[in-house]
Amino acid sequence: MDLDAALAVLAEEGAPNYRADQVRQAVSRDFIDSWDEASTLPKGLRTALEERAPIHELVLEEEQRAKDGTVKARFSTSDGFPAEAVLMRSKDRYTVCLSSQSGCALKCAFCATGTMGLGRSLTKGEIYEQLLWAARTARKSDARIRNVVMMGMGEPLQNLDNVLGFCHLANDPDGFGLGARSIAISTAGWLPGIDALIEEPMQVKLAISLHAPDDVLRTELMPVNKRYPIAELMKTLKRYRTATRRRVYVEYLLLDQVNDRVEQAERLADLLHEHLPGGHHVNLIWYNPTGSGLNASAPERVERFQAILEKRRIPFTLRRSKGSDIDAACGQLAVKGAAAAARAAKRAERETA
Ligand code: SF4
Repeated sequence: MDLDAALAVLAEEGAPNYRADQVRQAVSRDFIDSWDEASTLPKGLRTALEERAPIHELVLEEEQRAKDGTVKARFSTSDGFPAEAVLMRSKDRYTVCLSSQSGCALKCAFCATGTMGLGRSLTKGEIYEQLLWAARTARKSDARIRNVVMMGMGEPLQNLDNVLGFCHLANDPDGFGLGARSIAISTAGWLPGIDALIEEPMQVKLAISLHAPDDVLRTELMPVNKRYPIAELMKTLKRYRTATRRRVYVEYLLLDQVNDRVEQAERLADLLHEHLPGGHHVNLIWYNPTGSGLNASAPERVERFQAILEKRRIPFTLRRSKGSDIDAACGQLAVKGAAAAARAAKRAERETA
């Protein structure tokens, strides 16, 4: 949903200023599914909006529901690129996980999205439309979206302008009205993006996918580490923490016999005490196998890892991913055949250029 395009239509049609508020209300508060539902607008304006700024830029291809109530939506952009969003319920809170790109260039070893390669970055309107889908879906259960995490397909900091543009839309008090601290941007460690976030006045949360406390293993799991090794990453995070005073959330997937050893838990604690004293929170994540050959840590190894963090006074939460039976859990988003679709769309673009 391109709200800027809708506001431009109002200007082109010479509509009075108050129509802009009505449009924002209809899109971001009433979550209309078509301009016909915007009953406060005159028919002629609704037709102009339908033609020049349609509510749906994305096509909803499929919705799947997991046993735990998680809902995954698969969308297609108008030029044929797939994107997925996942709506998760925990007690009375709804969280939505959004995609910032179709596919991803960073190829982390544990992640299904990485196997797709990068299709293209999504626009802020395409990201916002995923949130509007989630809000409509949650409303069917009389619920609202409480949190947004940019942890779906893609590396958000490689698409920073659109991601921040989306955050401003979601945060707009006259629009969707989500608190900035209810939005988390998760990065694999794209340092120019973290530096740019230091300058960003909006108080969004930053989560860093660390997953290994040493360079050899991290590079194996996350090739981006070759470009931006742990020492550089920690220096940048320290700068971010010093400048913003915001806490850094550290994501750590527990992979059996790979990164769940005693010495690795100790090394993780050393890193955080040294570089982010008093300014970190670790999210330990139960891994959902993606056919990568990696497995979830055995329960006793998870317990041992937690015990070390506890002893070292590292604040942490153990998270179980939701929706694993519909491939909606962390690291599982990948549209089958998506890489082929992306290549076909690019080929078509070249042929028509
Ligand atoms: S984990 Fe994130 S950064 Fe890594 S390949 Fe998957 S989507 Fe990309």
